[in-house]
Amino acid sequence: MPTEDVIVNVYGANWCSDCRRTKKYLGEQRIHYGWFDIERPGPEGEKALQFVYDTNEEIFSTKKRKIPAVEVIKEGERKIFVEPSNFELANFLGLATKAKKSFYHTIIIGAGPAGLTAAIYLARDGYDVLVIEQSTVGGQAFITNKLDNFPGFPEGISGAQFAENVKTQAERFGVEILSPQKVLEVSTCHQDGSFEECQFRVVKTESQEFTCSTVLIATGSNYRQLVVPGSDALLGVTIHYCATCDGFFYKNKKIFVVGGGNSAFEESLFLKEKFAKEVTILVRKDKPRASPVLQEKVKDREGMDVWVNSEVVELFGEDKLEKVTVKHHDTGKVEEYYPDGIFVFIGLSPNTVFLKHITLDSQGFVVTTNQQTSAKGIFAAGDCRLGSVKQAVAAAGEGSAAAIAIREYLSKN
Ligand code: NDP
Repeated sequence: MPTEDVIVNVYGANWCSDCRRTKKYLGEQRIHYGWFDIERPGPEGEKALQFVYDTNEEIFSTKKRKIPAVEVIKEGERKIFVEPSNFELANFLGLATKAKKSFYHTIIIGAGPAGLTAAIYLARDGYDVLVIEQSTVGGQAFITNKLDNFPGFPEGISGAQFAENVKTQAERFGVEILSPQKVLEVSTCHQDGSFEECQFRVVKTESQEFTCSTVLIATGSNYRQLVVPGSDALLGVTIHYCATCDGFFYKNKKIFVVGGGNSAFEESLFLKEKFAKEVTILVRKDKPRASPVLQEKVKDREGMDVWVNSEVVELFGEDKLEKVTVKHHDTGKVEEYYPDGIFVFIGLSPNTVFLKHITLDSQGFVVTTNQQTSAKGIFAAGDCRLGSVKQAVAAAGEGSAAAIAIREYLSKN
């Protein structure tokens, strides 16, 4: 796009994964942007931080510090965004995101490790494959600071580099990636048809409609939100879902971490090591789910505490956390506490709300048998699937298993 017609300014911090995603997207589109680091010492950093506060206030009517804050001026029209999706930016910037064909052997929804692995396998076998991704190629793996346990990378690899490598590999085999583009519906070939009768599936996005023989749902999952009275007002101000992004604000401060799984324990260790003076992990049951190794690490660390049987009841404060009440299930008492901030890691919720004709469990995870969903010709792999183990390497493995199941299906239908 002719960049002289557009001015884009991104305000954020170097450790913020959403800021990296936004800059990467603009870079891929060859759009020049100004980068304003809110951490930069001196007046420039202060001015950038003030811009973030003002933008958040304009959008949410409260003084939050969610980043990135993005200012776009296009043909004289100014628009501000906070944590915009790539799709929102693309829409405002008028960037064309059209696929080359209208029919594919397989449409894969989601460009994380599961989707891209399946795409590589199928394209390598000569099938026409379209991958549709609403946000960033790489999925959750992209926003992970470092993948340390994916075999083949003895020194570990950054999530962003990993995503780039898999994308390059997929494109080498001719996989087409449509991004950012949101899938709205997956349906049968005609309104009254069943998946059993229909030979084709229809995939509708915000701007195009495709037919295909098979669909792979590989949409992954997102962090589950803590919903208690008061949580809405404080989201992004003193309630956070990303330690790497927001930990910086808690240098030498006291924080609560909610959750008893591996994420809560791993992120707590990171927050304590890099920033916080005290970290208290609140586990609602009588024991955490986190692995014994992580529990041991936390136990041995000075300044870290685990409170079991402890559940957040309410959060108080408007533009700053003033107080939190916690119910201790063993005593039945509700006590008041005054941490500086709260980080929440209470599991994942699958990105499957658009699936209307496929059996999901009560949490929204896709029910499968050997990667096949309840609808003929529609498969699922990775973190959105019921029973998946939520690991990048496992998602990649499921992607290959799904590709083999799809290949088998295509050979018979
Ligand atoms: P998990 O589902 O494993 O754990 C979620 C935790 O949050 C549980 O302790 C759960 O409590 C608690 N919880 C859920 N809802 C609430 C609520 N409303 N209030 C308070 N607590 C709540 O999620 P994770 O994000 O930790 O992990 C997801 C997956 O990713 C897992 O499979 C995990 O093993 C994996 N993972 C692996 C890592 C690694 O191998 N290095 C690192 C991080 C994650 P309860 O037990 O009561 O339900």
